[in-house]
Amino acid sequence: MAALETEVLVIGGGSTGAGVVRDAAMRGLGTVLVERKDLADGTTGRYHGLLHSGGRYAVKDPEAAKECIAENVILRRIASDCIEDTGGLFVSTPWDDPAFGDTFLQGCRATGVPVEEIDVAEALRREPRLHPGISRAFTVPDAALDPWKLVRGCARSAEEHGAQILLYHRVVALERDGDRVIGAVVRNELTGEELRIQAEVVVNAAGAWAGQIAQLAGGRVNVLPGKGIMIAMNHRLVNTVVNRCKPPADGDILVPIRTVCVIGTTDTKVADPDDLDVAQTEIDEMLDEGEKLVPGFREARALRAWAGARPLFSAEEVADTREVSRSHALIDHRERDGVERLVTITGGKTTTFRLMAEVAVDAACAQLGVDRPCRTHEEPLPGSGDGHFYALGSRLRAREPVPRPEEIICECELITRQRLEDAMERRHTANLDDIRRTLRLGMGPCQGGFCIYRATGILHAVERLDHRAANESLLAFLQERWKGVHPVLYGDQMRQARLDDWIFQGLLGVQHLPT
Ligand SMILES: Cc1cc2nc3c(=O)[nH]c(=O)nc-3n(C[C@H](O)[C@H](O)[C@H](O)COP(=O)(O)OP(=O)(O)OC[C@H]3O[C@@H](n4cnc5c(N)ncnc54)[C@H](O)[C@@H]3O)c2cc1C
Repeated sequence: MAALETEVLVIGGGSTGAGVVRDAAMRGLGTVLVERKDLADGTTGRYHGLLHSGGRYAVKDPEAAKECIAENVILRRIASDCIEDTGGLFVSTPWDDPAFGDTFLQGCRATGVPVEEIDVAEALRREPRLHPGISRAFTVPDAALDPWKLVRGCARSAEEHGAQILLYHRVVALERDGDRVIGAVVRNELTGEELRIQAEVVVNAAGAWAGQIAQLAGGRVNVLPGKGIMIAMNHRLVNTVVNRCKPPADGDILVPIRTVCVIGTTDTKVADPDDLDVAQTEIDEMLDEGEKLVPGFREARALRAWAGARPLFSAEEVADTREVSRSHALIDHRERDGVERLVTITGGKTTTFRLMAEVAVDAACAQLGVDRPCRTHEEPLPGSGDGHFYALGSRLRAREPVPRPEEIICECELITRQRLEDAMERRHTANLDDIRRTLRLGMGPCQGGFCIYRATGILHAVERLDHRAANESLLAFLQERWKGVHPVLYGDQMRQARLDDWIFQGLLGVQHLPT
């Protein structure tokens, strides 16, 4: 069997393991990480995508809230490219007790989570699709956090500091010499070959599988896999992370992620983190809860549903996994099971992964008898050095830094961007119908379905309109064209109108644009 030697062996390539390998490598320790599949293939790649402010835990789980806000501040500094700074809202819908808002405010203040109550009218101005019956609204610094960028960034940084990452390598045995763990046997899942990795200390960061790994060395970790389901909807129904202002429950958070948004989640105890199904009743429940936040939610298109398993650590058995703290757990098996050189880090959140890694590597250093300070809170991840947050549209901006004048804007009438801009400058009007009459824009078979939203964007730039005026122009054009379309809604024209309707209502949500 081939063999490898290292000081630290990390098991698990989710956010926790990736944080541990980076931290250990940055402290100058020889480190190897093994992951049975790809990076972030476990819970980290299936989570809700929320960089917690701590607001969600401020009332019920204050320790977790404090950890979240402290790490939220650090991650904004060191992992900015993985974060979209959407901000967060907690809102009291007609189904929520408005008095809970006071408890929430007190909880946030006691745990240091920045919070501000804003007028409901202001909340609805920011998020026009929210239920108009909301009675209270609070802002917190929630954001969207990209798990794949985060984990890959940590892995890249770890490699730059000399670590080795072995993907598709499954731990099949932990080896002991008396009371001491001395390494692992791993199987290459692609070739079937086995490899012996000798290590001075092993860090078990296998998330919901941490109990299985600890058992291989005769250790115990009571990890309760808490299943949660989520559904991705076909576009951003909100641009802010929106939470219900009530004690944590099912289906009470909506997170905008890139071009979609994700509603979640449930929390049920399951026996096996590899066996997670999504029941139709759970989908119905999520969609019903979504409707309470955003009326018409069910009419949007659900793209896909999936589940992840929370690695919840509890010293004793519990019936309801929501009762288990979201704070992390560090288990030094020397103290707990008499097994030396094995440390388990589990529980917690992706938001707190860096802190979890820090305490795990501190414990590993203690076992090794070395004292090396953690630096992961200081040094940004690769790609985050400039401190800029990810912004929706940045890819498009990078691809099209300057508009191309020969670009076709209206395929039916073959109108180029240059021709359109010239006409707009000549007419000097905010009325798209005037432009239509000038160029026959939107008068071909699609009746504006494909060109008019592009033309609105161009008008917005050429006439220096503010977004409200641009939205009004678009809506006025659609209204005007609809008058002529609706008397002939049959056959292919009916199909075309449905398609246009999907573009404008389904993708762009024009009914909800601020005007
Ligand atoms: C539904 C849901 C929603 C959530 N939403 C949020 C949220 O919005 N914000 C937030 O901060 N947190 C959230 N969390 C919590 C967060 O996702 C987890 O706490 C975090 O992802 C755990 O990361 P991890 O690295 O510990 O575990 P994982 O990501 O599961 O990583 C463990 C890894 O170990 C590997 N492994 C297992 N066995 C072996 C083996 N024998 N050999 C080698 N490798 C092995 C697995 O393949 C896996 O990749 C959510 C969790 C769930 C379930």
